[in-house]
Amino acid sequence: MSGESSDDYEDPDLVLLDRKSVTMADKDAFLPVPRVKGRYSSLCSDDELLDNDNELLGDRRSSWQDYGLSTLQGSVYLPVTGCVSSPPPRDSPSPSPSPVLKMGWLDKNPPQGSLYYQRRWVKLDVDYLRYFDNDKEVYSKRVIPTSAITGVTNVGEQKFEVVTTSRTFLFRAESDSERNEWVSVLQDFTVVHHEGSRERISSTPSYLLTPEHQGYLELRGLRSKLYTVVSGDKVFLYKNLEDYRLGIGITSIDMNVGNVKDTDRRSFDLTTPYRIFSFVADSEQQKDQWIEAMRDSIGEALSNSEVSNRIWAEPSNGFCADCSATKPEWAAINLCVVICKRCAGEHRGLGPSISKVRSLKMDRKVWTEELIQVFLTLGNERVNGFWAANVPPSEALSPASCSEDRRLFISAKYRQGKYRRYHPLYGNQKELNNALCINVQCSDVLETLCLLFCGADVNHPTGLADCPSPVSLALAHNQKLQAEFLSHNLNTELPRLEVVGLMEPQHYSPQHSVTHNGFLYKTASMARHVMERKAKEEFSRRWCTLNDGNFSYYESDKNSTPNGILKSTEIVCLAVNKPETHGFEYTFKLYSDSERLYLFGTDDPDSHKEWVKSISKAFIPSNAEALLRLGFERIGRLKYKDGLNLQSPRVGWFALVGSSLHAYLEDSEVEEEINLRKLQELSIQQENEVLVLVERGRTLYMEGERKLDFQGWCEAIQRAAGSAGDSLGLQQLTEMDIPVIVDRCIDYITQCGLTSEGIYRKSGVNSRVAALCEAFRRDARSVRLKEGEHQVDDVSNTLKRFFRESGEGLFTIEAASAWLNTPVVPDESKKISEYQLLLSRLPRVNKATLRALVNHLYCVQRFADLNQMNLHNLAIVFGPTLFQTDGKDYTAGRVVEELIEHYTDIFEVDEQQLKRQLDEITAIIKVREKLNQNSNNPASGSAGDFICTVYLEEKKETAEQHVKIPGSMTAAELTCEILDRRKITVRDKDYWSCWEVSEKDETERPLHHLERVLPILHSLGTDSHLLVKKHVAMEAMLVYLASKVDVSKHGIVKFREERSILGLGLNTGSFHDRYFILNSMCLRMYKEVRSNRPEREWQVKNLKVYLGIKKKLRPPTCWGLTVVYESEKQDKPERQQWYLCCDTQNELREWFSTFLSIQYDGNMWPVDSVPTRVSRAVDTRHGNVALIPLRGSENEMRNSVAAFTADPLGLFRDV
Ligand SMILES: [Zn+2]
Repeated sequence: MSGESSDDYEDPDLVLLDRKSVTMADKDAFLPVPRVKGRYSSLCSDDELLDNDNELLGDRRSSWQDYGLSTLQGSVYLPVTGCVSSPPPRDSPSPSPSPVLKMGWLDKNPPQGSLYYQRRWVKLDVDYLRYFDNDKEVYSKRVIPTSAITGVTNVGEQKFEVVTTSRTFLFRAESDSERNEWVSVLQDFTVVHHEGSRERISSTPSYLLTPEHQGYLELRGLRSKLYTVVSGDKVFLYKNLEDYRLGIGITSIDMNVGNVKDTDRRSFDLTTPYRIFSFVADSEQQKDQWIEAMRDSIGEALSNSEVSNRIWAEPSNGFCADCSATKPEWAAINLCVVICKRCAGEHRGLGPSISKVRSLKMDRKVWTEELIQVFLTLGNERVNGFWAANVPPSEALSPASCSEDRRLFISAKYRQGKYRRYHPLYGNQKELNNALCINVQCSDVLETLCLLFCGADVNHPTGLADCPSPVSLALAHNQKLQAEFLSHNLNTELPRLEVVGLMEPQHYSPQHSVTHNGFLYKTASMARHVMERKAKEEFSRRWCTLNDGNFSYYESDKNSTPNGILKSTEIVCLAVNKPETHGFEYTFKLYSDSERLYLFGTDDPDSHKEWVKSISKAFIPSNAEALLRLGFERIGRLKYKDGLNLQSPRVGWFALVGSSLHAYLEDSEVEEEINLRKLQELSIQQENEVLVLVERGRTLYMEGERKLDFQGWCEAIQRAAGSAGDSLGLQQLTEMDIPVIVDRCIDYITQCGLTSEGIYRKSGVNSRVAALCEAFRRDARSVRLKEGEHQVDDVSNTLKRFFRESGEGLFTIEAASAWLNTPVVPDESKKISEYQLLLSRLPRVNKATLRALVNHLYCVQRFADLNQMNLHNLAIVFGPTLFQTDGKDYTAGRVVEELIEHYTDIFEVDEQQLKRQLDEITAIIKVREKLNQNSNNPASGSAGDFICTVYLEEKKETAEQHVKIPGSMTAAELTCEILDRRKITVRDKDYWSCWEVSEKDETERPLHHLERVLPILHSLGTDSHLLVKKHVAMEAMLVYLASKVDVSKHGIVKFREERSILGLGLNTGSFHDRYFILNSMCLRMYKEVRSNRPEREWQVKNLKVYLGIKKKLRPPTCWGLTVVYESEKQDKPERQQWYLCCDTQNELREWFSTFLSIQYDGNMWPVDSVPTRVSRAVDTRHGNVALIPLRGSENEMRNSVAAFTADPLGLFRDV
C-alpha cells in the first residue's frame, strides 16, 4: 500500500464541466474572443483541472467560461444545472444494470492547493465505487473498481479512507453514523471480494479489463489525451496508461445508449442521450479502428439483452413456441411467436411472405415499443392456443428434434395452418372481413390474429373515407398494437392446407441453384473503366459455366480447370452495354468486389439475354428478386444511407431502368422506385464518394464502397436523370409532371414579363436563346432565371423554341390532327367535350404541360391592355409553335384560341382559385409599375421609395426613424443609415443589426446583413416592425461556428406543433422532447435518440427561424425558437409553424447559429465587420430584387397582397 497522502495524487479528475458555478449573468459576459484557438471543447474541466494547470491558470481563468459556454459544441443535453433535467425517453431506463449497494452525498478531500472539501454524490455497486458531481449526473468523475480497493479505514471526524494499491481516497460523511455505515458496507464488500480473488490480485489484478481496443485519444477540450479503453459493452476513460494499469478511471460510458458518428478526418462523436463525447484520433486510420471498436461495443451492448429481457418478461415467451427450447432469441414478428435459433432457421425457409424472422438480440431496430407490447400482450402460450390448438403428440417437437422434423412441423403449423384453431367464421369471407374491421377497434389482438390467419383480408376496404383500411381504422381508435400487428401482415401469405409437399425454400442469400453454360467472348479483366471501343480481336472465346454460385470460364469446353472463377457473392454489379458499343454486338460488364471489371460479348442477342438473366439471378438475393423482371441496364448492390438511417450505411439492391432507379433497401421488403428525372437535386459529393439524390421528402446517399462500379453507377444515374431527348416525357420534370424548362420559363414571365409589350411575339437575341436552350437541355434543374441576368424576350423565345422543337409536339403526332379538327365542331358544348376527351387521352406529362401553358396564356391575355397580347395575338404565335406547323393557315391558331377562351370549362378550373391567381398577378404588376416609375425617372432621385419607420433599440416614439428604403437596400445598409443619423459610433464587436420584430407572435429575427429590406417590409404584418439593435449573441455564435468542423448539430430539444382545430384558430399541443439532427440539407426530427426513422423532415432552405415563442403557448424555458416552414409546392402551398425550446441560452444560440450558417453558407457577418455605408449614389433601380417572390413563399406574397389592398399608401407613400 502506498503511504502517499491523498493530496499528492488527487490531481485533475478529468471531469465534465461543472456548471453549477455558472450563472446566467456569466453567460452574457462572454464577448471576448478566446485567445487560445482551437481549444473549444465539448467537455470542460472544472476547477480541479485548473488547479493543476498552473501555467495557464491566470489567462485561462478569465477566458475559460467563454470557451465552455460559447463554444460548447458537443454538450447537447446538459441543462445549466449540470444535470439532466428529465431522463431521456429510453426503452431501458437504467444504463447501469448493476445493483447499487449504497449511495449518498459525501465530501471528498480537497485537491492539492485547495482548502475546500468537494461535495460528491457517491455510489457503490458490485463492481465499482464511483463519485459524481451530483446525484443526477450520469458520468462519474472517478470510478474505482471495488477489486482494486485493498482497505477501508476509519480516520475520525466523520472521515474515512478508501485505500487502493496506489492511492488513498479520503471522504467525509455528514455524521459518524453515516460514516460508519459506509465503512461497514465497503469493508464487508471488499473483504468478501478479496477473499474470492486473492490469488489473482498478485498476478493479474481482476480489475484489469479485457480491452477490445485501447490507446490514447484526444477528447475535445482537454489538453492532455485520455487513455481510452473499449471493453465489452463499455468505454472507459482514464487519465493515462498508469491509471489504467492501476484501475483508477474517470468514468465509464455504457454503450447501450451510445451512438458513434464519424465527423471529420480524424474526429468522431460518441453520442449518448446525456452527452456527446467528441474524440480526435491520431490518424484517420486509427479513427476508423476506434469507430469500429466502439460500434462493436454498441452491438454487444444492444445484443446483450434489452429486447430479449423484456420479451421474456412474459413467462411463456421464455420457451420456444415450436420446440419449447429455453431462452429463445428469435421471433417471427408477423406470426407473433418467440422461437429458438434452430426453429428460426426453418422459419426462414418458409420465406418472408409467411414468416418474418427477426432476432431479439441483433435486429434491435425492428423492435418498436408497440411490437414489444404485442409480444407481451399475446405471449407464446396464448398464441399457441391458436397456432397449436390441435397438435397430435406424435408430431410435436421437443428441443432435441432433428432439422427434418422441425421443417415438417413448422411448415405444417404456419404454411398450412394445420394445427390452428378455426375461427367460427372460417370460410365466410365477408363475415371474417367485417369481424376484422370491428375487432381492430378494440384491444383484442389475439382475436385479430385468429381472424387474419383464418382468412380475413387485412386490406379489406372499410368503406370509410377517413380510415379506408383496417390498419387506419385501428389507428383511428388508438389501437396501436392492433395496427402494429396488422402492419407486419400486410403481405403475409395465408396458411393454405392444399399446399402440401415440397416447397422451395426462399433464402435471403443469392440463389446458387442457377445453372447455365455456353460460349462467350471475353477480354482480359481490367482495374479501370472501359473507355474505348474493344475490337473483336481483343476478345477470346471462352467456355463459361454458372454453377453452384460460381461463374467460371475455361479455355474450351474440353478443359476441366477453369481459367478463372468469379463467385456470385463477389459480383457486385452487372451492366448491360448498348448494342454495338464494342466489336461484339451485345456486351455486358461484370464488376467484382475486388475492383475488377470483366467484359463479355456475343453476337447472339438471345444468348446475351440469357446470360444477363442467369448471372443476375445468381447474385441478386431472393428478396430483391423482383428486380430481375425489369429490363435493366445496370443491376447490383451499393451501400446507402437515407433519412431513416444516417449513422451507418446499409446494403441496397438497385436496378437502373431508363430514368427509373428501382431499389430494394435493407430491411424493407417493398420495391422502391425513384424517378430520376423528377429529382430535386443530384450531385456527387465528398470527393466523388457519395452520390446524393434529393427527392421531395427524402434524400438518398449512395456510397462508393468500391471505386469502379460506383463510378459506373454515378455516370449511368446522371445520364438517366438528364433530359433524354427532346420530347416532353423525356425532360426533367417537376412534381407536377411539367418539364422543368416550361415551369421555369412560365414562372419567370409571370414575374417579370406580363407587362412587357408584345411578349411572346417579339423575338429575343438568337445567340442568347440558343444558349439558354442548351443550358436547359444540359441540366434544367440547375438553370435559375433571374431578372437582370435574363431578358424577358429571350426567355419567352426559349419556351417557344422548346415547344417547336420537342419531338412529338405537345399534342403528339398521332393526336394532332384530331385536335386540329375540333374547331369545326359546330356545337359549343360538344366541342368542349371533344377537347376534354382529347385532353384525357394525352400522355400524363403532355396533359400537365398543356394545362400549365394554357393557364399561363390565359393570364397573359387577361393583361392584354398592358402587353397588347390579346387572345388572337397569342393564338397566332402559339398555334404554329405548338402544332409545329408553318403557320400558313389559322387552324392551329384556332385551337389555341379556343383552348384559352374556354380554359375554365375545358380544364374544369376552380374559378375562385383563378381569381386569386389573377389578383396576385395584379398585385405584382402594381408593385413593379411603381418601381419602374422610379427607375424610369432618375431625376426625381429617390422619390417614391418606400418610407418606413425603423426603431432604434426599442419601439417608442423617441426612437423612431423614418427611412427611405430603396429596393436595393440591404439590412446592413439600413442599420448603418440609422446609426449614422443617430451619430452612433460603431465599435469593434458591436454587432449592430436590423431585426424584424413581431409583437403578436412575440418573436424577432435578425435580418442577414445582405438581406434586402424591401421584400421583408412587404411581408411584415401591421403588428410587426423593424428595429435596429445590437446582436449581443453574435460574437458567441461566431465563436461557436468557428469551433465547428462541419456545420451541423444534433440534440434533444422540446418540440411543439401548432395544431389548429377545425380551422377555428384554437390551438392545442404541448412541448415534448424530440431528438433533432440538423445538417446542411435537412432538419430531421426523431422521437428519440435511437429512433431510426425521422418523424419529420424539413429542407433547411424552406425554414425561417425566429427567436422567441409566444408566452401563451407556455414554453418550458425562455429559450425558444419559432420556426415557419413554407413548402415550394405550387399546387398546394403548405405552411407550418412550430416551436423549439432549448434548455439553455447556449443551446438556443448553437441551434440558431447553425441554422443561420447553413442558410447563409457560413456568411454570418461581413468580413470587415463594419457595414458599408449606404452609398447615396446607390442605383435606385431595383435590379433583380424579387419584390414578391412567386415561388417558395406564396404566403409571403399573400401577406404582401393583403397589405397592399388594405393600405396601399402605407407601402407606396411618396415623399
Ligand atoms: Zn425451437
